[in-house]
Amino acid sequence: MKSFDYVIVGGGSAGCTLAGRLSEDPNISVCLLEAGPKDDSFLINVPAGSAAIMPKPGKLNWGFETVPQKGLNGRCGYQPRGKTLGGSSAINAMIYIRGHKSDYDNWVKMGAKGWGWDDVLPYFKKSENCEAGATKLRARGGPLNVTNLQSPNPTAQHYLDACDQIQLPKTKDFNGAKFEGTGRYEVTQKDGQRFSAAKAYLTPNLDRSNLTVITDAFTTKVNIKNKRATGVECQIEGKAETINAAREVILCGGAFGSPQMLLLSGIGDKAELAKHKIDCVHHLPGVGKNLHDHIDYIISYKSKSTDTLGYSLVGIYKAVKAVFEYRKHKTGIFTSNFAEVGGFYKSSPEVKVPDLQTHFVVGIVDDHARKTHWGHGYSCHICVLRPTSRGSVILASADPIAAPLIDPAFLEDDEDMDVLLKGVKLVDQIVKAPAFNSIRGKRLYSSENMSDDEWREEIRNRADTVYHPVGTCKMGVDKMAVVDPKLKVHGIKGLRVVDASIMPQLNSGNTNAPTIMIAEKAADMIKTAHE
Ligand SMILES: Cc1cc2nc3c(=O)[nH]c(=O)nc-3n(C[C@H](O)[C@H](O)[C@H](O)COP(=O)(O)OP(=O)(O)OC[C@H]3O[C@@H](n4cnc5c(N)ncnc54)[C@H](O)[C@@H]3O)c2cc1C
Repeated sequence: MKSFDYVIVGGGSAGCTLAGRLSEDPNISVCLLEAGPKDDSFLINVPAGSAAIMPKPGKLNWGFETVPQKGLNGRCGYQPRGKTLGGSSAINAMIYIRGHKSDYDNWVKMGAKGWGWDDVLPYFKKSENCEAGATKLRARGGPLNVTNLQSPNPTAQHYLDACDQIQLPKTKDFNGAKFEGTGRYEVTQKDGQRFSAAKAYLTPNLDRSNLTVITDAFTTKVNIKNKRATGVECQIEGKAETINAAREVILCGGAFGSPQMLLLSGIGDKAELAKHKIDCVHHLPGVGKNLHDHIDYIISYKSKSTDTLGYSLVGIYKAVKAVFEYRKHKTGIFTSNFAEVGGFYKSSPEVKVPDLQTHFVVGIVDDHARKTHWGHGYSCHICVLRPTSRGSVILASADPIAAPLIDPAFLEDDEDMDVLLKGVKLVDQIVKAPAFNSIRGKRLYSSENMSDDEWREEIRNRADTVYHPVGTCKMGVDKMAVVDPKLKVHGIKGLRVVDASIMPQLNSGNTNAPTIMIAEKAADMIKTAHE
């Protein structure tokens, strides 16, 4: 039996950040348990490698499926999630976005006292090393490297020009003073290599004697005595072990893993637990509820240009050349995050804060890259930034190894369909702009003149996640809240949840930087609680 001051479960974006920060104090001991293996695969390190990891479940990807979605004409969605040190930041598209400041001020209105924009901005700044330089809103010197792409793909320029042609606003820095508009995404990379949360917060600190990192360690439950967390049960390389926590257990298993672990430990809705014959340790009806995610639709075209990665003789020749270029200089097409440019837009003039985001991808994306096409192409994602549909994560079985039942309830609320339809029509305008004339090839799936009803059907047949599930252990003080604003689980001592699951509502944008911010702020709260 091993004992540490803090036991952190899940070595993803939040878990690595927390482990790095808490272990700064040499007088406390920290153990990080990660279900997946070490992050030493070249597919993680080389930015384009995620295209190989993401499409299927495997050693580095949980590759969950959702339950059949009514709003998607009964289809099951796909939910890739990282399963290694760095978690989803080891397989993501590396885009660095904080969201709109009103997102965080809205959290306060929802009961998350102390999480307004002015409260969280110092933690965004503390975490980043913005290579472009420090400003009032951006910072240098933090562990997470944020930079521009080494070798922007020429195809992305067609998108920027097209947005200009249809007079969409522009911005130079989505994380600066102007959020709305079209621009180039910054990425969490350094010298052409992925910079996951593990690279930022864990790798440089692995020699600390007070930090123990155990991979292939699958946590099955939190041990609770007299309503206090005392440690966890886990399978380390298949062998059952108990790890004790003298101070706290901190769950960082992500939007699916954390609620699943709480439920397996008897913390959740009493009736739900009874279905699986799990003793209810604490009735907390919000566990696993409030799941929401950015619903997304993609328009793709074949391209006459061979500038993008693609299956063709020229494409293969260029890819082989690119391998040598990458190995020698860490430049070229393998440094691409694919979703190189995009923007934040309003679905109608009355909307105060952009409610739509595009990701323009320098390649064909069909069904999460699970379907491939001969030739070259480009795609434009469009997603709803503040969806109103709410779903859940519940247990499929009391067996910890069984994947949970994931129901994002995509497009169940008509408002989400209305916003997405407006967004799809905006993208339809962008891709038809003259800037694409020189490269535009055949359009895949949708056609250029569709009625609203035809579009709605097409969207239900093809839309899915853009990989930002949150909200399943929401922070707040109402009866459906799972953690309080200090991220302590209501009703249980010595137990916190720190990851994307605590967001009461999605931020307007990608979720990695906000999750790292959450863990940075949590680290400070935990340190001061034990001073
Ligand atoms: C394909 C993809 C593309 C994305 N692109 C972007 C992007 O470009 N920009 C952006 O900002 N965001 C992006 N995201 C989202 C972002 O990466 C996530 O929101 C963020 O990483 C979530 O962090 P987390 O700490 O909550 O969870 P995760 O990083 O998923 O970490 C959870 C960790 O817990 C581990 N775990 C789970 N259960 C257990 C258990 N029982 N025992 C032990 N360990 C366990 C998991 O293996 C995992 O390592 C993307 C996500 C994906 C999947």
